[in-house]
Amino acid sequence: MKPLSLYIHIPFCLRKCHYCDFLSAPAEEAVKEKYLAALLAEMEREARHYGGHQVRTVFIGGGTPTCMAAEATAMILGRLRELFAFGPPAETEITIEANPGTVSLDKLKQYREAGISRLSIGLQSADAAELKILGRLHSWNDFRKTYEAARRTGFHNINVDLMAALPGQTKATYAATLAKVVALKPEHISAYSLIVEEGTPFYDRYGPGQEGEASLPSEEEEREMYLLTASFLQQHQYARYEISNYARPGFACRHNMVYWQRGDYVGFGLGAASMVADTRWSNLKDLSRYLDRPEQLKEAIQILTTSEKMEEFMFLGLRLMEGVSREQFRKCFNQDIEAVYGAVLAGLEQQKLITVGSNIALTPYGTDISNYVMRQFLISDI
Ligand code: SF4
Repeated sequence: MKPLSLYIHIPFCLRKCHYCDFLSAPAEEAVKEKYLAALLAEMEREARHYGGHQVRTVFIGGGTPTCMAAEATAMILGRLRELFAFGPPAETEITIEANPGTVSLDKLKQYREAGISRLSIGLQSADAAELKILGRLHSWNDFRKTYEAARRTGFHNINVDLMAALPGQTKATYAATLAKVVALKPEHISAYSLIVEEGTPFYDRYGPGQEGEASLPSEEEEREMYLLTASFLQQHQYARYEISNYARPGFACRHNMVYWQRGDYVGFGLGAASMVADTRWSNLKDLSRYLDRPEQLKEAIQILTTSEKMEEFMFLGLRLMEGVSREQFRKCFNQDIEAVYGAVLAGLEQQKLITVGSNIALTPYGTDISNYVMRQFLISDI
């Protein structure tokens, strides 16, 4: 059976964080109930297309999925198991995203009983002032309690999300966050730099030309934080396996690996993205339309051309430290990678931005300027 990953989007949060442009908002209980019904109906309608697939990973993301009742989450997973063929439980990674303070011991127990094996906690920073600036509702102490409760209920695979380049953040406060988190020994740490997105309160405060812009770390400071993440986490036995992701041996996120390796995945819920057999689509992003017109959810359907597939293969695969496999390229496209990218590979190798062997991978310098490297693989520009 072909492997398949499932993503479930829960677009609700207790309150909107100031920097957030994700598809999420606070909602009344009645809306959450209606959403659950629409989500279950969507799963039901779509499942028949995936008879030949076996589910290997599930990711329940948001939003804050943990602001739904645990019974609702259990119901979603129960129904998925009825509708899809799942692999053996020990080999199926099931992740839920959680925000500190939104899960009790009881709720975590219910998640474990529902088969959830991985918890991804959105901490972002251990610094009280930075959390306040971000508009996060929790404190470091709330995070500690959530983390300890997760351990007590048997979660042996925990990710902690962190953010760098925050307004007012210094290398010292960032280093203190890293040290506090590493002391707890989570299995996985994701560390992304803040992007000030248009349409957010952050953009009005810290966007180009705004008064707060000067409080953002400079490019040089941001780079120092980025280098610190890699060196500090590597010293503490976290292997960097993707540009922004670090894990102890055996704990790389299998669900995200599917995205980077262009495996098949189906997303359910508001705005959820899917890619199956080189066709990409996403669900509409308007909540009232999602709730009221369930038969017309899919939009932006795109059947990828060979060039687009090759570009994606390179962009996504090069995010991984192991890089892209020459053999895999040949299998996917029935030609050698040199036939398409020979000159690009030679040029980047000469600039010491990539290494070229049975796999093609970014060097540390190439990782630092990965956006530049990725751009070289646009086929229209070759
Ligand atoms: S908790 Fe996450 S999804 Fe919700 S508003 Fe904050 S950043 Fe956005």
